[in-house]
Amino acid sequence: MAEVTCSFCGRNKKDVDLMISGIHAHICDKCVTQANQILSEEKKNKVEAGALPNFKLIKPREIKKHLDEYVIGQDEAKRVMSVAVYNHYKRLMQRKIDSDILIEKSNIIMVGETGTGKTYLARTLAKILQVPFCIADATVLTEAGYVGEDVESILTRLLQAADYNTEAAERGIVYIDEIDKIARKSDNPSITRDVSGEGVQQALLKLLEGTAVNVPPQGGRKHPDQKMITVNTENILFICGGAFEGIARIIGRRLNTRPLGFTASADSMSPSEVEKENLLQYVSAQDLKTFGLIPELIGRLPVISYLNPLDHVALSKILTEPKNALIKQYKKLFEMENIEVEFKEGALDFIVEKAVEYKLGARGLRSVCEAIITDAMFELPSDKTVEKLIINRTYAEEKFSKSHYSKLKVA
Ligand code: ADP
Repeated sequence: MAEVTCSFCGRNKKDVDLMISGIHAHICDKCVTQANQILSEEKKNKVEAGALPNFKLIKPREIKKHLDEYVIGQDEAKRVMSVAVYNHYKRLMQRKIDSDILIEKSNIIMVGETGTGKTYLARTLAKILQVPFCIADATVLTEAGYVGEDVESILTRLLQAADYNTEAAERGIVYIDEIDKIARKSDNPSITRDVSGEGVQQALLKLLEGTAVNVPPQGGRKHPDQKMITVNTENILFICGGAFEGIARIIGRRLNTRPLGFTASADSMSPSEVEKENLLQYVSAQDLKTFGLIPELIGRLPVISYLNPLDHVALSKILTEPKNALIKQYKKLFEMENIEVEFKEGALDFIVEKAVEYKLGARGLRSVCEAIITDAMFELPSDKTVEKLIINRTYAEEKFSKSHYSKLKVA
């Protein structure tokens, strides 16, 4: 039999990963990739030439309605984000030649305890809008030239999420987590440079405001021979999030809700007192500055929003109500084994109580559920006699107490 070779580049079948056959020709994976790149390049040129990019523009009310299906509570954050995102994409539709009024970017910063849904909100938004989305962790970023990742690595991830379609990546959403961890440590003067703090904030500035950035397509350090992809960040929406631990005290101090004498330090305020007031709702640019973000960075994150701590009621809802609620997921997993699983009210209460106790927000729910249900997930697929599993409080308590989670220290 004649050797199969790629009709485009002539490579032999054994030299490529995949050979696709047509009626009279063959094409190898490398040529497919290359053809794809040519296609997206062409598309991009068309967009630049004036055609409007093809994406869904949904009105704020509809965006919020979609968010409601997945994210419980956090109404204020949802409203603020829906409007910011809507305006951001309206800005994209605006052709520069159309008007003298250029709409500015509406990058967002969210303040809220860990596990309250910051990442989840951003991820859900990207899903609704059908744009590429990536999550970056601010703590691993460093200034260029230091050990760690350059800020450009964020865009590598976005490119990967967009399958290297630069045009799609250029209107994607980037979520930068733990932005509070790169706060300037002003009270800790050091002779060494603050590589992980202020320097990174400075490096982020150019990304946020919108410039053409050379991005190493495979990530890692830039080196001279590497081919770079130029990504323009002008239309990328950046959403930053952080727990900003202690910011409630800063807000409280600013609002002067408590007379703090010379001796009574703000730290002496009990956490529950602060929580009760949910001071986060008053968060402002000034508080972020006091916390240690540089004014230039805050200036490029004009939309400030907050997330409420999740209480017992919210956690209960999260467990059962959203479209892909945890309990629904577990039921589905068992259903695939032809086993019906029922969670009794008492068991659900127990799960929520434990999650509250461990102070991990909604993330704690998952850990507690896993601790309770892992035994059944291990045993039942091989046990053909069980058709129904009922999880009540006693079952939940027993399984949980045996798991290593029960030995965790309550935060
Ligand atoms: P954060 O980024 O604030 O630390 P995440 O967004 O990562 O928290 O939340 C962790 C998980 O908890 C999410 O993946 C989601 O499943 C769940 N979750 C958190 N908050 C909510 C919420 N308000 N509604 C529904 N699920 C939530």
